[in-house]
Amino acid sequence: MRAPKYGIISNVMNIVILLGAPGSGKGTVAGKLAAGDSRLKHVSSGDLLRGAIAAGTQAGIEAKGYMEKGELVPDALIAAMIKDVVAAGDAGSTMLLDGFPRNLAQAGILDGIGANVRAAVLIDVPDEIIHDRIAGRRLCPKCKAGYHVRNFPPKVEGVCDNCGEKLVVRKDDNPETVRDRLEVYHRQTEPLVAYYRDKGILNTLDGMAGLDNIVEAFGKLLAGL
Ligand code: AMP
Repeated sequence: MRAPKYGIISNVMNIVILLGAPGSGKGTVAGKLAAGDSRLKHVSSGDLLRGAIAAGTQAGIEAKGYMEKGELVPDALIAAMIKDVVAAGDAGSTMLLDGFPRNLAQAGILDGIGANVRAAVLIDVPDEIIHDRIAGRRLCPKCKAGYHVRNFPPKVEGVCDNCGEKLVVRKDDNPETVRDRLEVYHRQTEPLVAYYRDKGILNTLDGMAGLDNIVEAFGKLLAGL
């Protein structure tokens, strides 16, 4: 087996959970890491749900209203999707799980299916920075690459570097919905920080350190697992 760039060799799939507020950079960091190592897989629960909406599946139809309001979709709906991707994961690979779990009940579901959660990584960014970051956020609807008009711009304005698709603003990235999503984060998701700290597997990265530094620190952390 080819040695993975970012360490971890195992005969089961490893899971590394990404924690952090919306706009903290979880998806961008995970995307960069996964692009540099074929045995790292980035799974975003938000992308799975947006994919289901685009495909018009029953789950997508059910999820749409919650997402547009910045609320969490029902646990059972997202858990069913996550169970499928975890079950389909390759032994020896590592899944960077971005956006799941989002509350303590979901963390319990992940533990209940015997998922091999090796670490949780919190990307820590103050709320006041989050508003500015999300205001400039752009997304490729085709390959899901994320950009920021100032901090991480595409080479050609409004166009995806990877696939040439026209970039879009996510519907739930408007200021009112962002306020609601941050409130949901603090109330429902932040308790997971203590949950994984108590398990002894929490790591915290400074989300203000700059993308390359965060990716490097995260890579070292993975190599040390
Ligand atoms: P994200 O792309 O991670 O910011 O997620 C966008 C939206 O999808 C969230 O505001 C929620 O409505 C929904 N969502 C994503 N992941 C979950 C989850 N684990 N549980 C419930 N809702 C989720």
